[in-house]
Amino acid sequence: MSIKKDWAAKVLKREKVANKTYELTVSKPEGFEYEVGQYVNFKFPEPYFETKDNMMRPLSIASHPKEDVLKFVVRESESDFKKMYKEIKTGDPVSLFGPLGNFIPVEIPKDQNIALLISGIGIAPVLPFFKKLKDEKHEGKIKLFYSNRTPDIVTYDKELENYPLGDNYEYIKVLTGVQKRIDGDFIEAHVGDLNNYVYYIVGTKDFIKSMRTALKDKGVDNKKVKIDNFG
Ligand SMILES: Cc1cc2nc3c(=O)[nH]c(=O)nc-3n(C[C@H](O)[C@H](O)[C@H](O)COP(=O)(O)OP(=O)(O)OC[C@H]3O[C@@H](n4cnc5c(N)ncnc54)[C@H](O)[C@@H]3O)c2cc1C
Repeated sequence: MSIKKDWAAKVLKREKVANKTYELTVSKPEGFEYEVGQYVNFKFPEPYFETKDNMMRPLSIASHPKEDVLKFVVRESESDFKKMYKEIKTGDPVSLFGPLGNFIPVEIPKDQNIALLISGIGIAPVLPFFKKLKDEKHEGKIKLFYSNRTPDIVTYDKELENYPLGDNYEYIKVLTGVQKRIDGDFIEAHVGDLNNYVYYIVGTKDFIKSMRTALKDKGVDNKKVKIDNFG
């Protein structure tokens, strides 16, 4: 891993990946090394307009360390940061402080069963995580519970549906506009004995609280729960 500092990068591409959801590809600064699941404090040093916003947000790195670019994925909002994210042009500068965090362990036992409980834009670290598991020829089960309100905002849906992780992989899409929210019984129906899994939860603090409670109420040991809290 590289030292934590401000790294200068440039925007290479912006792509709409779901309704109101944009992926930004930026150059990978020379020497910037990170682990899957880390994030940076992502800053726009030269906003196009006057603002009181500090123009910095923590963002998960949505690319894999082996890629020669960095990717980020963000859901639109009314904030000036998000406005800039939507407007920034190819070639313009961004600044990345990091890498930060240790959400996903570097070493994952090959036979560990993994359940990911993800809501909305919490999907950001999941594709690089899948690549890591694929590269490591992971043998345990991998269950992705991905919750969104409506189908139009399900981000990376096709990639997730077709991810080549073999028969041990199951993609469980939950649309809360028409379905019940994820709860302990629902998780249990898909994984069986809940204590046979390690859980990775990513999303807003309310989602995390609700998933933690669901697992706790089912007797899951807290040591088996890893959290990436997007706030
Ligand atoms: C580790 C981590 C990884 C994240 N990864 C992603 C990601 O990949 N994609 C994504 O869309 N979002 C991610 N987030 C959330 C993101 O940082 C924003 O908080 C969120 O997108 C809302 O920002 P906003 O500008 O729309 O809303 P705002 O209303 O401006 O902010 C929403 C919340 O963020 C807080 N906030 C505002 N500025 C900052 C700041 N500079 N630092 C910390 N908090 C601040 C506000 O206090 C408020 O609670 C991540 C958060 C964390 C902590």
